[in-house]
Amino acid sequence: MKHILSPANVGVLAQLAWSRVLLAFDFDGTLAPIVADREQAAMRAKTRALLVAVCELYPCAVISGRGQRDVAAKLRGIGVRHVVGNHGIEPGPNMAGFERVIDVVRPVLARALTDLQGVEIEDKRYSLTVHYRRARRKREARAAIAGAVAALPLPMRVVSGKLVANVVPVDARNKGDILLELRDAEPADVALYVGDDVTDEDVFTIDQPGRLLSLRVGKATRSAARFYLRDQREIDRLLACLVKLRKDKKACRSVTTNPATRWVPRSIFSSAPGA
Ligand SMILES: [Mg+2]
Repeated sequence: MKHILSPANVGVLAQLAWSRVLLAFDFDGTLAPIVADREQAAMRAKTRALLVAVCELYPCAVISGRGQRDVAAKLRGIGVRHVVGNHGIEPGPNMAGFERVIDVVRPVLARALTDLQGVEIEDKRYSLTVHYRRARRKREARAAIAGAVAALPLPMRVVSGKLVANVVPVDARNKGDILLELRDAEPADVALYVGDDVTDEDVFTIDQPGRLLSLRVGKATRSAARFYLRDQREIDRLLACLVKLRKDKKACRSVTTNPATRWVPRSIFSSAPGA
């Protein structure tokens, strides 16, 4: 995993900025800091202003685990072209089918978890999120949630996150599926995706060097992402860098008309470990 903002990797971002690229971001923990009260999550004013500038220069998507309306409200006025909720389900095909699945499993899961201290189910209509941030015994809560989900009458996929367990219909699209769809529909040659959590690994594990650049907030040995930001605050530096590079595109073009530097090789996205 390499630090995207290190001088050695500036060429990677430059290559993106000069490409037909779709920029895609997770919301919580990526564009906005994680907070104890999820209702209060918001971007810093600086991030917001930078994202507005980025959206004027690039097609952008936000793919969140929140319900679509919920995350769209937090992005109002910014100019994000595609706002996707529920880990890639919303909007999309078969939403009525997923809603029926959730209608069946929600009361069963609620009954199973009713006595568990500090555990709360968030109903996102097409998926559920079980929060255990307030549980005193987190390991026990996690095990109990896993047991309760396994006993549900319909098969569900559990994607764990930061003190949450996301419960998603087993045949639903994931963040990776929707990202590739958006990239091809845009159409864009390459996509950048920035995320911070286990659900973002559905994007990070897609192996398409030169067509998808995956970037994790926080270095992690077990992530499939190729690049990282040191922490959530560095999203501001990344956004500022993307703005600057694309605004400088004209200057860059004169450099790239030199046959020796016309194309940064596509392999730059999958270059050997280091830096
Ligand atoms: Mg996140």
